[in-house]
Amino acid sequence: MTTKITLTQIDQYPEVPSSWGGMEWNKTGSWRFLMPVFSPRPSPCSRECPLQNNIPEMMALLADGDTAGATLALALENPFPAVLGRVCPAFCTEACNRDRFDERVSIRAVERLLGNEALKKHPDLPKRKATGKSVAIVGSGPAGLSTARFLALLGYAVTVFEREEAPGGVLRLGIPPYRLPRDILDSCIDAIRRLGVDIRTGVSIGTDIILTDLEKDFDAVFAAPGAHRSLDVDLGGYTGIGVLSGLSFLADVFRGTIDSVTGEYAVIGGGNTALDAARTILRLGGSPHIYYRRSRDEMPAFTDEIEEAREEDIPISYLTAPVGLTEKKGRLAMTLITMELGEEDASGRRRPVQISGSEREVCVDRVITAVGEAEDFSFMGTDGDKKDPVSILDAEGVLLGGDAGGGRRTVADAAAAGKRAAIMIDARLSGRPAPEATERMTFSRWLEERPAPEGDPVAFEDIQTAYFKKSDAYRLQKTDPHMRSGDFSEVTAGPTERDAAAEAARCFVCGTCIDCKTCERFCPDFSLSIIRNLKARGVGSSVRVDEDFCKGCGICARECPRGVIVMKTP
Ligand code: SF4
Ligand code: SF4
Repeated sequence: MTTKITLTQIDQYPEVPSSWGGMEWNKTGSWRFLMPVFSPRPSPCSRECPLQNNIPEMMALLADGDTAGATLALALENPFPAVLGRVCPAFCTEACNRDRFDERVSIRAVERLLGNEALKKHPDLPKRKATGKSVAIVGSGPAGLSTARFLALLGYAVTVFEREEAPGGVLRLGIPPYRLPRDILDSCIDAIRRLGVDIRTGVSIGTDIILTDLEKDFDAVFAAPGAHRSLDVDLGGYTGIGVLSGLSFLADVFRGTIDSVTGEYAVIGGGNTALDAARTILRLGGSPHIYYRRSRDEMPAFTDEIEEAREEDIPISYLTAPVGLTEKKGRLAMTLITMELGEEDASGRRRPVQISGSEREVCVDRVITAVGEAEDFSFMGTDGDKKDPVSILDAEGVLLGGDAGGGRRTVADAAAAGKRAAIMIDARLSGRPAPEATERMTFSRWLEERPAPEGDPVAFEDIQTAYFKKSDAYRLQKTDPHMRSGDFSEVTAGPTERDAAAEAARCFVCGTCIDCKTCERFCPDFSLSIIRNLKARGVGSSVRVDEDFCKGCGICARECPRGVIVMKTP
């Protein structure tokens, strides 16, 4: 009977016997019909991150105890990781290869810890010398701030114009402090100011300054006005008082105009604005009830938001829509109808269809509508080309981006559009060819003038899982739902540095060589040598193949834990 021996650490392997006599004369490479090719590839998590955060590198460095290096690797691509580590829906984690092994890596929690580190220790970001050119940015939301930050690093004099009294756009006026504490937001904005960005608040474009004047005074203009116009809900033609849009309600609360509410609130919608409005009403003293016309599965709000609202006992009526509203004895009588799901519509979701005869009435004190947002381009006198998140609006140099540029409306997408806008503006002003719209250009690649990484991301099948141990993923701690619903303090507590390092150690580091030497040790012909990346503790090293002696057996590719060697026909 054979006994199976499982070795999980490289130092458990036995010494490999080797000949002492010279064998250089025997060029065994001539036997080869397949060749190992060192092929670092994108990880699926980085590929799905709108900002293309260098997740494998940050995880490998943090797991190796280099918190400062991990923070710098993240901050190079991410303009405000302390914000995105809290409010991003974590597209990265959805794609994580570890899902098929045990549990996905909690990437956003690690990002949050490193984002906080960046605010405390200010990573030494590469900054080009001044170009002598200037750029105006309209709007200080996530897209505007991101553009400003990357342009400042590229050596431009950047001025941001914001019509509100405080910068941040939707980050300040749309996202409640229990999801994004204001001291964190303020510190992120201060970090951008420290790079030399001039943020002028209380300046309205179209009123205080004309857009065409900006075009004359600056070498380029980027407009990121956001999507602040709420879509209307048909309430049976009702136009009386008591109805507010979710966006304007939240903005009034976070400007300080509303500090308490009473009574019953019907919140119409199933997106984050609806959930945020309801959870804010609860914290201000009111009783919210959410009505959504589709089912839970179609609800566009982030899963965390829905779960947290349910934990806070906020009632949600699915498959329910308002069809009428009237004033009744000083309150509002809202007629609701039950829906059923029909055929798929253009959005790919099943269309809600009214069930006749299912009408009923509820009495409330206020109605908040939050069924979607639209752009407002009135200050530009145009509706722009909304197909691309960064669209060239005119030949003179005004770019449009962020939520107003179309596409998916998340803070991460807006920040990514801002980064892309900065690269496009730099290309235009420096005369360098701009990356193609389809090219996944990262900021570090743009700085180093290297092509963007190409190829399919590393698949789970490319990972040699024998080198990894199963373990549970880190989970954020949450405050008690009934304690937290009385104030705006942050709902989740982030990981400690130790928790984050332990979570980072779970990462496979898909597609990136970390100088683990597994291939080198397994090669029977000693034909591999690793060129260690001395700048980053071996993360991002490369492998050289001695073509004279590699027989093409493929053991190196089979054993590489993270899929960076592939066998190809020479
Ligand atoms: S920005 Fe979002 S998608 Fe990108 S790494 Fe952070 S959590 Fe993941
Ligand atoms: S294991 Fe690590 S590198 Fe691979 S997909 Fe998950 S987080 Fe990304």
